[in-house]
Amino acid sequence: AQAAFRSDLSYLLELIGSGKESLIFMKKRIRHLAMQWILATRRLEQKLKGRRRDQKQILVHIGFLTEESGDVFSPRVLKGGPLGEMVQWADILAALFILGHSLKVTVSLKELQSNLGVPPGRGNCPLTIPLPFDLIYTDYHGLQQMKQHMGLSFKKYRCRVRVIDTFGTEPAYNHEEYATLHGYRTNWGYWNLNPKQFMTMFPHTPDNSFMGFVSEELNETEKQFIKSNKVSNMAVVYGKEASIWKVGGKEKFLAILNKYMEIHGTVYYETQRPPEVPAFVKNHGLLPQHEFQQLLRKAKLFIGFGFPYEGPAPLEAIANGCVFLQSRFNPPHSSLNHEFFRGKPTSREVSSQHPYVEDFIGKPHVWTVDYNNSEEFEAAIKAIMKTKVDPYLPYEYTCEGMLERIHAYIQHQVSDPCPIPPGHAMQSSLSPFTLLPNASHLMWAYNASSSPQAWPPVHSMQVWVSEVRRACTETCQEHGLVCEPTFFKFLNKKDVFLQLSIACDSTEYEMNHLYPAVAETVRECYLQKEPLLYSCAGYSTKYRRLCPCRDYRKGQVALCRDCL
Ligand code: UDP
Repeated sequence: AQAAFRSDLSYLLELIGSGKESLIFMKKRIRHLAMQWILATRRLEQKLKGRRRDQKQILVHIGFLTEESGDVFSPRVLKGGPLGEMVQWADILAALFILGHSLKVTVSLKELQSNLGVPPGRGNCPLTIPLPFDLIYTDYHGLQQMKQHMGLSFKKYRCRVRVIDTFGTEPAYNHEEYATLHGYRTNWGYWNLNPKQFMTMFPHTPDNSFMGFVSEELNETEKQFIKSNKVSNMAVVYGKEASIWKVGGKEKFLAILNKYMEIHGTVYYETQRPPEVPAFVKNHGLLPQHEFQQLLRKAKLFIGFGFPYEGPAPLEAIANGCVFLQSRFNPPHSSLNHEFFRGKPTSREVSSQHPYVEDFIGKPHVWTVDYNNSEEFEAAIKAIMKTKVDPYLPYEYTCEGMLERIHAYIQHQVSDPCPIPPGHAMQSSLSPFTLLPNASHLMWAYNASSSPQAWPPVHSMQVWVSEVRRACTETCQEHGLVCEPTFFKFLNKKDVFLQLSIACDSTEYEMNHLYPAVAETVRECYLQKEPLLYSCAGYSTKYRRLCPCRDYRKGQVALCRDCL
């Protein structure tokens, strides 16, 4: 069936059910954003005019909210616990529903089983039941539950699963055998899924798909109003839990901040003021989401103390006309050196509290400075108080941007482990490559007509060879492009080295997440033996990597220019 856009969200609110604080929070958010979603839907509908969209049967199983996995979040919703995940799930539900798909939502094992058609008490039997869903959105907890309770069907239908995974899962951690052999084993990884099936909160790992969430968009009148009502000496501190005030060395930078600005906090407390929060701070306690937005509308500065990492609040602050000030991490934080990231299936290096706003937004909205350097810190505060900034929200975080992206994924993303219908197999011959004559580096373009079904379309590809010690993620970025792992299969050929004028004395097929690559000094070339290991992330001192890059839409990095 064709999917028809929906503009009445009341049935969705019914679907979500109730009883848990987390569900109440999500429904409140959906209700509050309803008008934004509806306006966005109209705009996207016009943009996609006439485009056929298939209606999918979708199950959304929110694993971390099930009692069976402990549900540690729901009881903390009103107590300053993390809300980012709930923000994201609320927005995913809204987007899927508005796009017109048929939805089931489950937050308990019992509901999951009944929706999957597993007979009660038969959970562990190796059944192969036909799956009544085209797609299942879940998280790592839900994945575990499905594996336990679907029997053989789980293996068979794995490709229909999408895993909402805040910080991302890199291919080296996802491939069971490789992870085990090379020390990439974690509590989360090795599901052998196509890495694109993992969907992240920010576009930090092109190996995964960027799911995101939304923030409220202001119209011109609201923007002007907010701009003229800013209190230039008002700062709000990022963080709802008292523990963030315990960061070492904060006395120094807080004293500087306090010299210039009135400091506000939204730290949760029961009856008394949390002892960690200094007396000069005006603490409002944990606020409902819309009241928090109101506070941001008045504030000039939103300041991070280094934790929490990569949450929604800085985007909301910038969208409400605040400047976000955060500390640079030098050396960067990662699973190798920081407790919070330890055991997460990624070795991504986090260069500040919020690298997305640092890299994708930057000045004048975002200042990333060294908090240990008092002069640098003080200079930033002074400069921020003097600058006027407009509220800003990247397109990919607007309701329209999120709808557009999810629409494209649902209509185009095929997961490789699934059988590809005959006639859809992708052509990967290399003859249509042409060398771009003005390339200062090795750069190739692909002839468009050869592979019409591929998505993203192959003509958006440009191939660059990385320097040693450079990942493909950075290599593409340096050329204003983004790494696109779906294109690796077009590069994984002996001829490609030849076409790139790379001299190979030998060429081996091996399992290594850095391949295809060349060890230039010894003229050894390597091709990838295991397609699941194609990875944009990763570098070594030995190899120059072949990197498949593609263009992207302004403000929508997940989609290439011709991807809609
Ligand atoms: N938030 C809130 N009340 C507050 C402070 C924040 O409702 O007093 C909301 C905020 O609007 C944001 C959400 O909490 O959408 C999560 O923000 P954060 O960046 O702190 O991420 P988390 O660590 O909670 O995942």
